[in-house]
Amino acid sequence: MNDRQPRAAHAIACDPSTPLQVLVDLAAQRWDLHGIIAANPAASPELIRWIRGVNPTLSTGRAPGHQPAPSAAGRALAPAAAPHVPRRSRGVGGWLAGCGCLAIVAIVAVVVFAGFGALLFSGGDETGGLSSAATPDAAPTADSEIDTQRALYADERAKIDELSLEFEESPVAWLVADFEWLFRQDEKIADPNLLEYTAQTLAAQAKTFREGLEVSVAEAQARRVNTSGLVTESIVDTAGKGFLDVQWDAATACTADDREDWRTTGCITKEDSLTVHLLPESELGEWSSKFTVVHELAHVYQRADNASVFDYRGEYNDLLAQGLFQGSAEAMADCYALTYYGEWSLTNGDTTTGYGYVCDENERSAIRTWASNMNAPMQ
Ligand SMILES: [Zn+2]
Repeated sequence: MNDRQPRAAHAIACDPSTPLQVLVDLAAQRWDLHGIIAANPAASPELIRWIRGVNPTLSTGRAPGHQPAPSAAGRALAPAAAPHVPRRSRGVGGWLAGCGCLAIVAIVAVVVFAGFGALLFSGGDETGGLSSAATPDAAPTADSEIDTQRALYADERAKIDELSLEFEESPVAWLVADFEWLFRQDEKIADPNLLEYTAQTLAAQAKTFREGLEVSVAEAQARRVNTSGLVTESIVDTAGKGFLDVQWDAATACTADDREDWRTTGCITKEDSLTVHLLPESELGEWSSKFTVVHELAHVYQRADNASVFDYRGEYNDLLAQGLFQGSAEAMADCYALTYYGEWSLTNGDTTTGYGYVCDENERSAIRTWASNMNAPMQ
């Protein structure tokens, strides 16, 4: 439940122990999860009413506050909606796949509004936060063009979901593409006041997003094979499932360490969170190579943590704010590497690596939990 992976959105939506505010935030972001959220016993009657208001054709199996539900208008119109409604069996990365708590088909919110959404909204008394979207009379031709674009969007979205299965278990999933942006697009396409031009733009952008994802996935599939035969590559391949690259060009790619007698053994750059730069193994030696690559991977996971759309879980920033790892992201990355290898010293032979702090048992326990939440490997 503390999982921060994309697929976890679904688990969060299902989980009766999820805090109400989290469900509310999730419902605002993920219309495709409305059915699941509404069926969650932790959902408040207000939240369920809101979901029913904005998503009237949804069959949630649970009435808000056990009131007779939803509006007759919603029910009467639902069958008419059916032909237009692409049903999805899962969201991004299978987020909707196999939840024990539901026998609900999530309906792309998009479609709910197609054509007659405005009518529902103007007449509904349960529209909650998204009240009174009064866009009465769009011309029938415009409606059908918007319907077409929404169908194209839903098509692309389904392909994106399929592609996302490739990295659903990966700790770097949130770095592969900007899903936060995509979720905002999902909301826009569901807007009952959607304009034809906007619908076209959204569909085109979804296509571009899908094409980019296809490239990433193809590259990752090719990269999963260890082509260099080096131990650092095998560690990176395993950790990132091919979505992470490793280059042995730290000498040029990384900023030099300004401490005397120290040199930079690895980095990830500001621009590219998915490439780990290292010094060549032949130069660094085995211990420093292995330590450095895992230290840098910790930074990758920290960035993935920051990139996650969901902000209620134990973020690494919270751990630092609690004073763990001396409040330092670098000491935390060292701690991740030390815990990963079960080591209690930063010195090996005549080489000392890292930032000088060996974390304690308590901090290792925290880092194990964090790693588990991030799906990050830990030995
Ligand atoms: Zn570092």
